[in-house]
Amino acid sequence: MKHLTGRHGDTGTRRIGSSAVSSLRISASLRLRVLFLTLPLALAVNFSAGAQTGKRSGAHSSIPRDNFSAADRSAVEKAIGTACAERIRDPLGSTPIDEMQARPSLSATNPDAIAGARRADRLLPVTRKLVAEAIVQLSKDYGLYDAPASRARVNSASARVQGVKRIRPNVDARDNASVLLRDPRVIEFGTIFLAGLKSDEAMVSVLGHELTHVASGQSDLLRPLFRAIARRAASRINLTISGQRAEELACDLVGLLATRQFIDQAPSWEPPPRRIARAVEHNCVDDDGSDEDHLSPRNTIRALFALDVTLARELLATETQSSSRTRNSLTARGTAF
Ligand SMILES: [Zn+2]
Repeated sequence: MKHLTGRHGDTGTRRIGSSAVSSLRISASLRLRVLFLTLPLALAVNFSAGAQTGKRSGAHSSIPRDNFSAADRSAVEKAIGTACAERIRDPLGSTPIDEMQARPSLSATNPDAIAGARRADRLLPVTRKLVAEAIVQLSKDYGLYDAPASRARVNSASARVQGVKRIRPNVDARDNASVLLRDPRVIEFGTIFLAGLKSDEAMVSVLGHELTHVASGQSDLLRPLFRAIARRAASRINLTISGQRAEELACDLVGLLATRQFIDQAPSWEPPPRRIARAVEHNCVDDDGSDEDHLSPRNTIRALFALDVTLARELLATETQSSSRTRNSLTARGTAF
């Protein structure tokens, strides 16, 4: 996931030779970053959809015309404010990543870190399932599941998440999470980050992000999907989203959709808007910086809500309205291109 000055994440290029340098830059950053470490050298190999591919912006011009309206744009902006206000009111609101970064390291025996690790362990199995489903559903939504070759690629990617079996707390990882790409059975999770995600919803969101990196893997199986998602978001919020930023945003989107399904499947007395907000609250930063691999945290929320305006509107709904709704599938949202 992302945490780099507010986010988390992997990094830009796929140049193995420079990966050690990349990993140092990563650990200095605020966002949650996924480091792909190649063992046994402990080199961080950063995967970038864009670095490999270069620019192919015109390659997929068959996407239907977008119909993102001014009202949609307004709903997105309101939803950002609502989510971040809810974070302050919610006893289980997440700590923003800029606050996490400013904190001293947290011992693995810290009660909040222990609670976070237990939460992550408990939620990993259900999140694996939700992520696998979300990847398939998104691929269908974006027209990337029709051809047999595309379908095989997506199914292969979604199956990969089942290989992730453990969470490993790590003091030095601080506010980052990472996976070992060559052997992705473990998600390494900084103790500050574990302690800062206080709700199940926030944890599912972050685990979903990490698992999506695993799904795409070393062969970039999900690169077409990442690029399609980035293109749509870019057009809706008028930002350039290329290279690693595309993958990071797409991983966040999968995490958000997994959380939304989790909310439906794990009923609670809590208002659904509060629960939805938790999926993005770690991005409610004051220090809204970006880097080459990530949108800024607040632009990340903006892009996510622009990609799923229905979900943004659910966040704005009253408790009564939203709690009475049942969502049957991921397709219920974001059908407009
Ligand atoms: Zn990431």
